[in-house]
Amino acid sequence: MILGIIDHDRGTLNAVSLEMLTLGRKLAEESDSPLAAVLIGEVARPLTDQLAAYGVSRVYCAAHDGLDEYAPEAWAQSVVELIETATPNVVLAPGTDRGYEVLAHVAARLDLPLATNCIDVTLNDDFQVTRLRWGGSLLEEAALAGSPKLLTVAPHAIVAEESGGHGETAVHTFIPSLSEKDFRVRVTGRESSGREGISLADARVVVGGGRGVGSQEGFDGLEQLATLLGGAVGGSRVATNLGWRPHSEQIGQTGTRIAPDLYIACGISGAIQHWVGCKGAKQILAINTDAEAPMVTKADYAVIGDLHDLIPALIAEIQKMKE
Ligand code: FAD
Repeated sequence: MILGIIDHDRGTLNAVSLEMLTLGRKLAEESDSPLAAVLIGEVARPLTDQLAAYGVSRVYCAAHDGLDEYAPEAWAQSVVELIETATPNVVLAPGTDRGYEVLAHVAARLDLPLATNCIDVTLNDDFQVTRLRWGGSLLEEAALAGSPKLLTVAPHAIVAEESGGHGETAVHTFIPSLSEKDFRVRVTGRESSGREGISLADARVVVGGGRGVGSQEGFDGLEQLATLLGGAVGGSRVATNLGWRPHSEQIGQTGTRIAPDLYIACGISGAIQHWVGCKGAKQILAINTDAEAPMVTKADYAVIGDLHDLIPALIAEIQKMKE
């Protein structure tokens, strides 16, 4: 059996889980095994139908009062108990904050090796994984030992595809035996960031700003452009480190990985750590004064010039089209 851990926030699915299931389904087909998924917390049970569309034939639902909010060790212990009873051959987690954290705890508890950021698996004598390394700038082929095999799937590297089948999905509920210790780290409260609207990770259009924007106020134009295009604003690490934007809006290796239809990168040089977070965009438009900047040379489209002139011109043009 191939088992995928589903990342959700109080029942809202993180779509990277569907990319993981797409790789899981390929593995299940190649090894002639069923594809199963584990939902932690009964709050996630309604996701079952959505998972069925991706070829999941069996859903395990961990039921426990404490599991509806995220608690990494409790989530991991639930998975460990499931592994011990259901004995999957492979356990996958999505390449998300929760996916990495939970599977790392699982690996530690079972004393097993873990391969992160995999984009493919080849089943031959060895269990061979292809991993993204160095922020995606190189690919590594590695043989993964241990049983079950534990791996995370790199985010936005695989296109999520429904299976096209309409099989039945059986739901098995289990009650993990969790102690107080498993809840040492847990979400105890939530505070709004004060920013409403489309999330960076899900936006179809992202307008990003870097050092070239020059100030916090400089982002007003980017906000206006994003609103006009129904998108979200993000920033480089320089923009977040300088306090121009909140850290939650950082795009890159140590921020959010985005995969919009269009990314407009304004005054961003395109350092590798930023690039790995935006290369999943279908189209990139770079606005930069430097024609040699890596973001410009890698982008699908580029406009060379000062963003302080270009963004108001772009806004005016879009407004005209919308009239
Ligand atoms: P710069 O590199 O300074 O580029 C500014 C760009 O603006 C230049 O290309 C310039 O030509 C252009 N420009 C200037 N003025 C204008 C103007 N008026 N109009 C148009 N263009 C103009 N960075 C991230 O972004 N995300 C990460 O997650 C991240 N993680 C990191 C992790 C590690 C471990 C490390 C070491 C670094 C990380 N970084 C990350 C930092 C990264 O290496 C770069 O320093 C950063 O991305 C640069 O930000 P920038 O492009 O805004 O600034």
